[in-house]
Amino acid sequence: MTNRYDYHTHTAFSDDCDVPMKEMIEEAIRCGLTELAITDHYDPGYQDPEFPFAPDFEAYHKALLEAERQYADRITIVKGMEVGIMESQLDECRRAVRDFPYDFIIGSFHCIHGKDLFRYDYSQVDGPAFIEEYYTNVNECLKEYMDYDIAGHLTLVDRYIGTIYDYTPYMDILEDTLKTIIYHGKGLEINTSSFKYGTGIWLPREEILRLYRELGGEILTFGSDSHMPKYFRDHFDEAKELARSLGFRYECTFRQHKPEFHKL
Ligand SMILES: [Zn+2]
Ligand SMILES: [Zn+2]
Repeated sequence: MTNRYDYHTHTAFSDDCDVPMKEMIEEAIRCGLTELAITDHYDPGYQDPEFPFAPDFEAYHKALLEAERQYADRITIVKGMEVGIMESQLDECRRAVRDFPYDFIIGSFHCIHGKDLFRYDYSQVDGPAFIEEYYTNVNECLKEYMDYDIAGHLTLVDRYIGTIYDYTPYMDILEDTLKTIIYHGKGLEINTSSFKYGTGIWLPREEILRLYRELGGEILTFGSDSHMPKYFRDHFDEAKELARSLGFRYECTFRQHKPEFHKL
């Protein structure tokens, strides 16, 4: 059987998703997926009361273990979490990640200095300065924080800021961040949700993926960031084509935080 993975998906344990875990899994089986990483949100310190992004961990862990067992003969369930990293919450992120035998952790930056990118008022913002601050923050956090397996949608700020800026001024800091990611044995994902949001740019940007590969980065996952089953593996063929064209040879899956390499 051909391997068909999706390594970034959400269920109703995420505050921004209404689809129960069972329904997501059953749709994934119907779509022919062979492996599904369920990576619900935990964003400690997130300020929006409407979206606290704090799951009921006991229920989440139980549901993951039950799903893994119940569907074992039809699909591999990868027990994951997407942790929102914030400089004031690093210890809490570590605690949450170590609290359960997860297979796979996506480390994401949805906020900058405690304010979320989604609701930020960009009309008052100096775009280039904001981007520089975002990547400086990512860089500083990832020097200290290692409880993740891949960095999620590394150039997420592109989605929200409303302008596609030239990244030349930020390439040094991004290069340093990519070196840190590689040095710590972590990886990147290609997050195909950029198609759904219509930004017209890869996530992360192609130039970042290229640089990651040139620096020796090999650990790469593909994630749709689905909050609805219809987006499973959305645009994965194009994403894989891009990865191959940039010199990537493998797609990774994870068990207990250890990458397994599969020929692309
Ligand atoms: Zn995310
Ligand atoms: Zn996500």
